[in-house]
Amino acid sequence: MVGPQVVIVGAGVVGAALADELSARGWNDITLVDQGPLPEPGGSSSHAPGLVFQTSGSKTMAELARYTVEKLCSLDVAGEPCFLQVGGLEVATSPARVAELHRRAAWATAWGIEARVVDTDECLRLVPMLDRDRVLAGLHVPTDGLAKAVRAVQAQVERAASRGVRVLERTEVLDIRTEDGKVSAVVTSAGELPAEIVVCCAGIWGPKVAGMVGMTLPLVPLAHQLAWTGQVPALAGQIEEAVRPILRHQDGDLYYRERFDTVGIGYYGHRPMPVGVTDILSVDDAEVMPSVQPFTEEDFAEAWRETNSLLPGTADAKIEEGINGLFSFTTDDMPLLGESPEVKGFWVAEAVWVTHSAGVGRAMAEWLVDGHCTSFDLHACDVNRFEQHHLAPDYVVARGCQNFVEIYDIKHPLQPMEEPRPLRTSPFYQRQRELGAFFLEANGWERPHWYEANAGLLDGREIEVPNNSPDDWAARYWSPIGGAEAQYTREAVAMYDMSALKHLEVSGPGAAAFLNRMCTGSVDKSVGSVTYTLLLDVDGGIRGDVTVARLAREKFQVGANGNLDLDWLRRHLPADGSVAVHDVTPGTCCIGLWGPRARDVLQPLTGDDFSATGLKYFRGRRTYLGNVPVTALRLSYVGELGWELYTTADLGGRLWDTLWEAGRPLGVIAAGRSAFNSLRLEKGYRSWGADMTTEHNPYETGLGFAVRRGKGAFTGGEALAGVDEANVARRLVPLLLDDRETVLLGKEPVFVSSTPVGYVTSAAYGYTIDRSIAYAWLPAEHSAPGARVEVEYFGRRAPATVAAEPLFDPDMSRIRR
Ligand SMILES: Cc1cc2nc3c(=O)[nH]c(=O)nc-3n(C[C@H](O)[C@H](O)[C@H](O)COP(=O)(O)OP(=O)(O)OC[C@H]3O[C@@H](n4cnc5c(N)ncnc54)[C@H](O)[C@@H]3O)c2cc1C
Repeated sequence: MVGPQVVIVGAGVVGAALADELSARGWNDITLVDQGPLPEPGGSSSHAPGLVFQTSGSKTMAELARYTVEKLCSLDVAGEPCFLQVGGLEVATSPARVAELHRRAAWATAWGIEARVVDTDECLRLVPMLDRDRVLAGLHVPTDGLAKAVRAVQAQVERAASRGVRVLERTEVLDIRTEDGKVSAVVTSAGELPAEIVVCCAGIWGPKVAGMVGMTLPLVPLAHQLAWTGQVPALAGQIEEAVRPILRHQDGDLYYRERFDTVGIGYYGHRPMPVGVTDILSVDDAEVMPSVQPFTEEDFAEAWRETNSLLPGTADAKIEEGINGLFSFTTDDMPLLGESPEVKGFWVAEAVWVTHSAGVGRAMAEWLVDGHCTSFDLHACDVNRFEQHHLAPDYVVARGCQNFVEIYDIKHPLQPMEEPRPLRTSPFYQRQRELGAFFLEANGWERPHWYEANAGLLDGREIEVPNNSPDDWAARYWSPIGGAEAQYTREAVAMYDMSALKHLEVSGPGAAAFLNRMCTGSVDKSVGSVTYTLLLDVDGGIRGDVTVARLAREKFQVGANGNLDLDWLRRHLPADGSVAVHDVTPGTCCIGLWGPRARDVLQPLTGDDFSATGLKYFRGRRTYLGNVPVTALRLSYVGELGWELYTTADLGGRLWDTLWEAGRPLGVIAAGRSAFNSLRLEKGYRSWGADMTTEHNPYETGLGFAVRRGKGAFTGGEALAGVDEANVARRLVPLLLDDRETVLLGKEPVFVSSTPVGYVTSAAYGYTIDRSIAYAWLPAEHSAPGARVEVEYFGRRAPATVAAEPLFDPDMSRIRR
């Protein structure tokens, strides 16, 4: 046999796609099990109307959708297609939605999907039934369309079966056995199946199946209304299943598709209807199928009124059938993919729409067979991304329901969740409130964006309103105070709350060797050293950028990006127990004290030498600031002299007050994330997840300096053989917008001679250099300083120039002073 013994639980679109993709890669000991009859076993795929709108703010989701479209277009069952490529049209009935369609068009272009905003006439040409007086504009994506979900299941299962995959229908998985922390067998209603790998593709039943190995899956099934009209006279005589684009009317929480001369109507405007996983009926007990609940007509009344208004022709028809169909919602609207953190061999591919199903099948197959996924960056889908509070049942239901309510809302990238808040607060929270902090939320943490107490700093400064308009997108969750805080940090000194950054403690006799193997840099240096380094995937893609501080011979503090770094390190711990990794974030806090006067604030508080030679740049030490024991690391993410000062959470309040009292005579302020982001872009400091991901290698990202070749073997090192700055095909580079008023959001497409060639990752106004900055991925041939490009922002093109970096203090004189 080639490949391990695999059992896939669930033969909906996801399980079927995975069986197909795994068997295509040569694994041939695969069993696909479903409790229901195939090809309609009764899960969400069995009744999904199959609308595929590929456009998404997430590059990964758009790419998963694009692959799904490509694959389904190539599949058929007895000559009947699995995809009807009729195109997609999203219409706007409000000015805000028109702007949003431009934003979405830009995403599509950035991710390589053809899309354009069209006028009312074109909308009516595409979908004649629309009411001309309601529609202001539309977003047309010609390659969108209808996935025939049941047919896609059948085609992929049959192809997998033809390659030897065993398919067990009407077979329920009752339990999963483990031995020594690994899966060993799957107990089914038809007997036991030995298994080295189990992949849970159980859709809404996912939490139940994952629960069999003790894994909490943050997913909640919610009912969503889908209704079908009888014959619509305006469509009478239509002999093809669908000819006009699928239609989305997000202002009304509605979507539509044709089915011959009838119309399918999906609605998200009703109250959230969560269902407990244990309350889902069995295949035998369910009247229609387990994922179908009775249609509650009263919840649909508004949808029908709105439909008759937008598509007046439907008023001549009646609703003939309807369901409240169940499918999965998650806390952040993203799928759950990957291996359990505790049970080896137990994998999940959950909360996946039909839209992304074949892409997810491919992603999972690559991950399983090759050990990593090369085609897609999956970090935002990884099931190990969550913090502990994300798994609380109340949180899962509350966020799932809210995501249902907001599914078609126009959301700003900085828009924080409203409930439950506050969840995680640093010990500085009370002081920050006293200073009028405007809080946003990061991974559950309340994080100040700016402080109203600093309004006085605006006197004598001119801070531009982005795009000259307080209503502009870049001017939301924004205040000129943030700009003043940024400038003031470079002039004097500011305190930044850095507690939300993940910090890990790596300790034990094997810690140095372990970290040296995991990181691109050399971290086995003297006690007190701090190293900026990268964690790479086996293919050389960047999994994270971290700072590794050696606090003692056998103890390191790792400043990480999130839970995925913790998970990655844990998965690679040596089996001999010589290294331990702990997440110390919740019990610690951190203040970044930065600015030219930082030393004047700090030095009088300690007997230790914090002079330029006493504690050099990228060195750290333990010390006391008054009564507070701290770990001081001489680092700066803002490009100014200063230290990250860590202490335990219980002493955080005292640390804040100590620095504040010492700093007031020197004019210390508290500053927020808005200033921080501007300062970091002036210095070109990359933010993992936004600027770079697993898709990018260190050299194209401009982080080749963090790779120490020749230091010995490290994860991802082999994949970098032959790669260097000179021969990369693309680069992450700073752009300076020609016009000072244009401030971008991120994710905008970048054009050279009217051809989209790249996309923006992060953007902010640089308040010191007084220019609007955007970082962007560009093909190497367009990445040299001086190259001219254009960036699309809400339908207009803004000229920009590639700049040399860093944009500020290139000789590092400020940070090393
Ligand atoms: C009304 C409605 C409309 C939708 N419209 C769209 C749309 O237009 N576009 C879109 O992209 N998505 C749509 N969706 C979402 C989409 O249908 C789902 O996200 C998708 O079908 C999930 O596929 P799946 O394979 O993960 O799950 P499922 O199709 O639910 O498959 C899971 C399978 O696991 C099996 N299973 C579970 N537990 C066990 C067990 N213990 N033993 C054995 N077998 C088990 C089940 O029988 C089931 O067949 C819609 C959903 C609904 C409800």
